[in-house]
Amino acid sequence: MIFDVLTIFPGMFSTVLGESIIGKAQEKGVIKVNIINIRDYSKDKHKKTDDYPYGGGPGMVMMAQPIYDAYMSIRGKLDYKPYLIYMSPQGRVLNQDKVREIARLEHIVILCGHYEGVDERIIEEIVDEEISIGDYVLTGGELPAMVLIDAISRMVPGVLPREEAYTEESHFHGLLEYPQYTRPECFMGRKVPDILTSGHHANITKWRRQQSLVKTFCRRPDMFEKLELSEEDKRLLEEGLKCLKEGKGMGGWRDDFHG
Ligand code: SAM
Repeated sequence: MIFDVLTIFPGMFSTVLGESIIGKAQEKGVIKVNIINIRDYSKDKHKKTDDYPYGGGPGMVMMAQPIYDAYMSIRGKLDYKPYLIYMSPQGRVLNQDKVREIARLEHIVILCGHYEGVDERIIEEIVDEEISIGDYVLTGGELPAMVLIDAISRMVPGVLPREEAYTEESHFHGLLEYPQYTRPECFMGRKVPDILTSGHHANITKWRRQQSLVKTFCRRPDMFEKLELSEEDKRLLEEGLKCLKEGKGMGGWRDDFHG
């Protein structure tokens, strides 16, 4: 998977993307992240990349020409048009389905805006899709681009050691993940649920499914209503909710129960 990032702040990327799993994935060559400095393509003698908005108003707008030329430095070497995503608070809000969809592509270009955003004509000319990372406004598209690269890279074969590392996680199947525990078995008087140390794999799977169902029901009714439940799921949910109501608890989140 190739990511080409168009930005006026290239220095923001190396630390975040050079560490941990994404850093290792780059070392292995499973993903490749190229950072392109838009400023290098400015025709202005001071390397200016922004200007005042037509019609007045606060802030500055990123000019179309340097962005276009930076994009053409990639496009000009290819015999296909790479998919171009503009990180924008006005775009479709990112979710796991969208991440999975983009992860099927082999090459994406990500445009990071700044100030008041980019000249609208660059969106019309080269952008395929606008993506937001949430309903709030950040100062620039660099953090959103890193969020997108991280989320997509995890889906690329060879980045995570095992596929189950992401297929069992929150959101992959429309459920939140069950609670996780590691050693020691007892911490501050709180013991790991007996079932997880029982060695009984079928019961562990059932317990985790029940935890996921109840957690999603309590915390994310919007996700829950999209689920198609089997008869066994319904039974597990009913049993789990009964436990919560009786104050038996389902891990550390019993206060979230609003039922
Ligand atoms: N004036 C713009 C508006 O009201 O829609 C906001 C511009 S914002 C201050 C500057 C840049 O940050 C945007 O061009 C975009 O690239 C990035 N950005 C800010 N919030 C974002 C979000 N929630 N998701 C993705 N990108 C975002």
